Amino acid sequence: MSALLSDTADLAAGRQNVIQLVGVTKSYKSIGVLSPVDLDIRDGEFLTILGPSGSGKTTILRMIGGFTRPTAGKILLRGTDIAQVPIHKRPFNTVFQDYALFPHMTVARNVGYGLRIRKTPAGEIKRRVEAVLGTVNLGDKAGRYPAELSGGQRQRVALARAIVCEPQVILLDEPLAALDAELRRSMQEFLKELQRRICTTFVFITHDQEEAISMSDRIAVMDHGNLVQVGTPQEIYYNPKSEFVAKFFGENNILPAVASGLPPAPSIESPLGRHAATAGQHGELLLAIRPESLRLCDGSDLRSDERIASARLESITFLGASTQLSLSVGASGEHRVKVRVPTTLSTRSLAAGNDVMLRWSEADVSFLPRG
Ligand code: ADP
Ligand code: MG
Repeated sequence: MSALLSDTADLAAGRQNVIQLVGVTKSYKSIGVLSPVDLDIRDGEFLTILGPSGSGKTTILRMIGGFTRPTAGKILLRGTDIAQVPIHKRPFNTVFQDYALFPHMTVARNVGYGLRIRKTPAGEIKRRVEAVLGTVNLGDKAGRYPAELSGGQRQRVALARAIVCEPQVILLDEPLAALDAELRRSMQEFLKELQRRICTTFVFITHDQEEAISMSDRIAVMDHGNLVQVGTPQEIYYNPKSEFVAKFFGENNILPAVASGLPPAPSIESPLGRHAATAGQHGELLLAIRPESLRLCDGSDLRSDERIASARLESITFLGASTQLSLSVGASGEHRVKVRVPTTLSTRSLAAGNDVMLRWSEADVSFLPRG
């Protein structure tokens, strides 16, 4: 997994920045809603801004699009400050959550709108609109009005309208939030596929962590107006930098840990035993490890990067293909961890009260600041 991870990172690092936010802040009537944000958005990537409602996602997108001005800081487009560039001169297109289609225009006229404003010749508009409607599988709906379309079709008209102008970046503010679960999943696949096909940078907002993980090249996590972590879905999932990020994505085991710099080497004590500390780790910390990163074992055949601890099985929940175990760990068994293992003949013979051994790879453990 680590090889894959660094390949992805190398690939992404080789790309040029299309947009850079440098120390960008936003206040409304002297109330700060965004702490200084530094964020590089790379050419051709699918970047997701993820965070709970009110965390500042839309504010960032609106500043990039030019709908709102930053209170401080700079937004660069390929190295050039775009503070003075008005909305319609920025090479971006936005897909809003409510789609904002013109109800009195047909699908074709909605999609061609941006090209008409740019005084594109009529023949070229017709050709490009037809091509783009084909791309979003709406070739047969050109003459319909928005009211005559389903939610998913309206969504694709909004997308078509954004891509027809061939922007350098497409900004999407929770475009799937209004769709029901099944349509949402198929639109996720469609969007991702489309982004790969047209090789355009997508800046996508969602508050849904699964959506972010499945669609993104990189995720920027927001919390209360702070950009708290940026990384690939795997980096964010396996190496969260804060308790917020560790808890925001899926299930996690979070245990207290204490780092001490005492000789012979600085180390961290935890209910899962002792781990090596790295520079800068001291005092009270939290240990995070995913339920699927823990395995049952008999203590033999350990790799050098693996660690073990004894645990007592408290309860077993059969989930079909996997089985979830709740175990107590620590010197007096006062801490609980969840473990998710594939169901096998041997897991089916486990019983509450069994003493077992846990094994995990050191790379799957994260230590976070507490509080
Ligand atoms: P998100 O998109 O993550 O839900 P927003 O960027 O819309 O969050 O909002 C971030 C914060 O800024 C919220 O607390 C919101 O109330 C505040 N905010 C957004 N727009 C305005 C505005 N025009 N005036 C005052 N406060 C605003
Ligand atoms: Mg929003």
